[in-house]
Amino acid sequence: MLLLFGWALSFADVTAVDAESVSKKIGASFHWFPVQKSFILVTEKDTAKFAVGIPYASVNGSTIDLTASPVLDDGHLWIAEEDVNKLFPPKSEAKAPEAKANTAKAEPAKAADKKEATKDAAKTVTATKPKNETAGTREVKTIVIDPGHGGKDSGALGKNAQEKDIVLAVSKLLKKDLEKAGFNVKMTRDKDVFIELGQRANLANQWDGDLFISLHCNAIDASAERKKQIKGFHVYVLRAPESEEDKAIARRENKVATLYGEKNAKEELSPIEWFKLEARLEKYKQNSYMFTEEMLKAMDGGKIKRQAGGVGGAGFMVLVGALMPAVLFEIGFISNLEDEAYMMSKAGQEDIAARIAKAVSTYKDAVHSYRETLGR
Ligand SMILES: [Zn+2]
Repeated sequence: MLLLFGWALSFADVTAVDAESVSKKIGASFHWFPVQKSFILVTEKDTAKFAVGIPYASVNGSTIDLTASPVLDDGHLWIAEEDVNKLFPPKSEAKAPEAKANTAKAEPAKAADKKEATKDAAKTVTATKPKNETAGTREVKTIVIDPGHGGKDSGALGKNAQEKDIVLAVSKLLKKDLEKAGFNVKMTRDKDVFIELGQRANLANQWDGDLFISLHCNAIDASAERKKQIKGFHVYVLRAPESEEDKAIARRENKVATLYGEKNAKEELSPIEWFKLEARLEKYKQNSYMFTEEMLKAMDGGKIKRQAGGVGGAGFMVLVGALMPAVLFEIGFISNLEDEAYMMSKAGQEDIAARIAKAVSTYKDAVHSYRETLGR
């Protein structure tokens, strides 16, 4: 918490420039990924990737320290001017003849590389069996449902219900719906037992899942008045948190690991851990966001509405180890009487499960149509 605050402060001390204007100035194309909170600048030579709140950039695949983390403010993305000059040196400073010689030398090699790469890609497409493809690019078949908490860990407590019971009931219904739709479904627990957070992701990896859905109920510890106000669902992906609220939710969901002495347990990730993790999970990320979009669409129109935009990111330990697209779904607030009653009711649980199942099916369709465009 202190660290993040520190970055924000240090940002105030440096000159920041609007990333989109910078891209125009240097002749780069600019792409913003709103759900992912990241953006890339692509010049002829370089691809630089940035993420809001992360003090590192990835330039042509290598990690570069930034003077300050990019900030999203007032609809604009701000990066430190110093970082821009470092990553994209102004043309006037470059020694023209030398630069020319370098490009001339680099060009043929680059062209050859490209040819090689294209050939390899073509080879992979025809030669790779679907089984060997990475989760997220292959057919969506195995869905892993992770009902949060269990056993000695009851999760958040409502007035009348416990989180662990609600999420298990919804998970069982979801399993039925998904099986009816033709999916192979695995559950990290199908009864009231305690399973470590790390073990849940391990199970999902062993099962070679295509999608990991961790189900939870949200809660706030506040006055009765605030409990009455704060309700709704929220879909979380593994991403650097942007708000203290999101951080607090991850801390609460992660607490079980530190509470019961799980190996490698921690309540929060450090900035460098985040960056390493981002690189490792890169190949699943796009699909996690795709599924998140489908979840938002499927849940809209239901009794429980979106809470604070309905989507967020934080360091949920249960998602860290899953080598597949993964989301954590906070169905509703167990601390809110209305949400709690709906989540406890049979009709409510059935409706929630049916909506999640629909999101899985539309996600599958989206992945499969994307595969078709690739000719797989
Ligand atoms: Zn939970």
